[in-house]
This record gives sequence, structure tokens and C-alpha cells, in this order.
Amino acid sequence: MTTFNILLLAGDGIGPEVMAEVKRVIAWLNTKRPATFNTEDDLAGGCAYDAHGEAISDAAMAKAHTADAVILGAVGGPKWDGVPYDKRPEAGLLRLRKDLGLFANLRPAICYPPLADASSLKREIVEGLDIMIVRELTGGVYFGEPKELVTLESGEKRAVDTQIYAEHEIERIARSAFELAKKRGGRLASAEKSNVMKTGVLWRQTVSRIGRDEYPEIELSHVLADNCAMQLVRNPKQFDVLVTDNLFGDVLSDVASMLTGSLGMLPSASLGAPDAHGRTPAMYEPVHGSAPDIAGQGVANPIATIASFGMALRYTFNMPAEADMIDRAIAAALAKGIRTADIMQRGMTRVSTADMGNAIIAELESF
Ligand code: NAD
Repeated sequence: MTTFNILLLAGDGIGPEVMAEVKRVIAWLNTKRPATFNTEDDLAGGCAYDAHGEAISDAAMAKAHTADAVILGAVGGPKWDGVPYDKRPEAGLLRLRKDLGLFANLRPAICYPPLADASSLKREIVEGLDIMIVRELTGGVYFGEPKELVTLESGEKRAVDTQIYAEHEIERIARSAFELAKKRGGRLASAEKSNVMKTGVLWRQTVSRIGRDEYPEIELSHVLADNCAMQLVRNPKQFDVLVTDNLFGDVLSDVASMLTGSLGMLPSASLGAPDAHGRTPAMYEPVHGSAPDIAGQGVANPIATIASFGMALRYTFNMPAEADMIDRAIAAALAKGIRTADIMQRGMTRVSTADMGNAIIAELESF
């Protein structure tokens, strides 16, 4: 039987509370033995700063490098507002992304039918929605040089950010997106601004070439990023996988996330390039933060973190049947009216973090 090693970084605030429910799901899976999951805990974020004076220790980084997958809860909180910039909790996250080379950020936007009314759009637009946004995470305008804010001789201030993409950066994110499209509905849309940006022209040319040469079976389309934002709120179900750069991905994935209702429902994955043995570095985490306003109360929604583990089953452990089971268990618990406070609706049953975990495990047991 295959053994997988998972590093769990629960982090701060509600991180440990939602991670506790993931641990229970992993323990449940271990009793069913489709594989053996060994887990190890370590610190990241403010808790790591308190313990070691760094947002993640070298020892924890070494474990992240050898683990098959990292699962992160959330980092940060007002307690660490005053710590030096390079040691703040988010620095731990950035180091993980940088050192593991996680250039592809995957954000699914799934609208579970029982929650369709929690979306700001009409039920028929979002019900059954299942799209995957793939955002380039380590290049583009957030990192390009020159990047400066200067005062000119005239006294006027001027700021510069630089959007740069080299062909290899576009090729590797395109391949990640085509591979996902292969595992999903076989359709990929690529968003850029090739009408006004040279990086957009290169993006379109490169994605087209990779599609033509390596993935002829995938149906590829191109959409301008502004039109894409409009299409996401007009008719989001037209998309299957959507690939885009760092800046547009930041905006478009937030638009898509609101289609589904609550922050407590949104998982994500960040993937690197496969090594010589075909091993792909991967970190899975909920989109939400450490929610200091509700931390310690046992009311946080654990679904985003449990669904992040579900993504690990699908994309790292290559266990699609088990990943589907997790998704079906979440949907079934919601269909029975089980709700944490953030997704509470009239007539439903309001439960704690642990009871949402119980409800999901009860559904898993029933399959
Ligand atoms: P947040 O996501 O922590 O919270 C925003 C709102 O959503 C809050 O009202 C919170 O109670 C609610 N919420 C979030 N997750 C929830 C869940 N699982 N269940 C129920 N309600 C939930 O964002 P914020 O308040 O802007 O940031 C708080 C801290 O988290 C900051 O220190 C920020 O830097 C950090 N942060 C970390 C990450 C990360 O670790 N990846 C991401 C975003 C923010």
C-alpha cells in the first residue's frame, strides 16, 4: 500500500480549529486504508514567530521540501501587527511559496446547490457551478523590475510597476492548466489583454502553441481579461478551467469566489513543477485568513480546509474517487441543512466547527 507524508501547518487564529477537522478526516481515511497517510505538525505564521523568532523555521521548511504535500490552515492576526516586515506571519507563507517554487495557484469555485441562495447572483446563474481558476503566482507585475515610487525633480511623484513574462513562465502555467483540463471537462479558456499589452500577445501565442503541439484534444479558447470578468458574472457556467496571469488571476479569482457564497467554503492549491521523479511540490490551504474575530469560539467553518485536503487527494495523491467522496460528503451535509454560522440560513441547523466535521464524517461513513 502507498504511504504519503503530509506536513500540517495549522497556523494562527482559526487555523488550528479547522485543521483539527481535517485531521479527523485523515484519521477516518486511514481506517479505510486506500493508502496510509502519515501526518506531522509544525508551526507557521505568528505561532512560529513566537516560538522561533521567524515566521517559519528552517526545520519546518526542510519538512515541507520532503513532504508529499503541505496543508496550511491560516496565518496572521493583530497580535503580530508590530513585528518586523520580514518576520510577519505572511512572510512564512511567502517563503513556502517561493522556496517550493509554487507558481500555479488553483482556485475552484463550486456552488453547492443548497447554498445557491447565499450567492449575490441569481440561483439559476450559479447553481451547480464548478470552475477552476489557474493563476500564475510567481511572476508578472507584482515582481517585475523596475518597481518604484520616486519623487521627480519637479516635486511630482511617479510610480512604476513592470509587467514581465518570459516564455518559460507562460509555458509551465499553461501546461498545468491543460493537465487540469484533461482531468476535468476538457476545456480551457485563457485570459489576457493581448489587445493592449505585449505580455498579453506573448501569453496568447505561447498558450496557443502549447495547446496545438501538446494538448490537441483540449478545446482552447481565448478571452480578454475585462470581458472575462463580465462573463464570470453574466454566465460563469460557460467556463471549465480558466488560466491567467498573476494580476488578472488575483482579481478574477476573487470575483469567482463570491459566486459561491462564503469565504469559509473556498479551498485552494498551489503547485510547482514536477521534478525528475514526477513529484510535484504542493501546498493546499483555504482561501480565508485566520479570522481573529471568531478564533477560539469553535464556530469557524472547516469546509474550505477539508475541501483543500480533498484537492490534495485529487491532485497530489491521485485518488479521484476519494476526492469525489469528500466533495459528496460536504454536499450531503449541506443538503441536510447543517450550517456553521457563516452560511446559516433560516430553518437550517446551526452547528459548531466540530459538529460540521462530525456531519461530514457521518456522510463519509454512510457511502
Ligand atoms: P479573514 O479571511 O481571516 O476573515 C474575513 C471574514 O470572514 C471575518 O469576518 C471572518 O470571521 C470570516 N471568516 C473567514 N474564514 C472563516 C471561516 N472558515 N468560517 C467562518 N467565517 C470565516 O480575513 P481578514 O480578517 O482580512 O484577515 C485576518 C488575518 O488573516 C490577517 O492577519 C490577515 O493578514 C490574515 N490572512 C491570512 C491568509 C492566509 O493565511 N492565507 C489569507 C488572508 C488573510
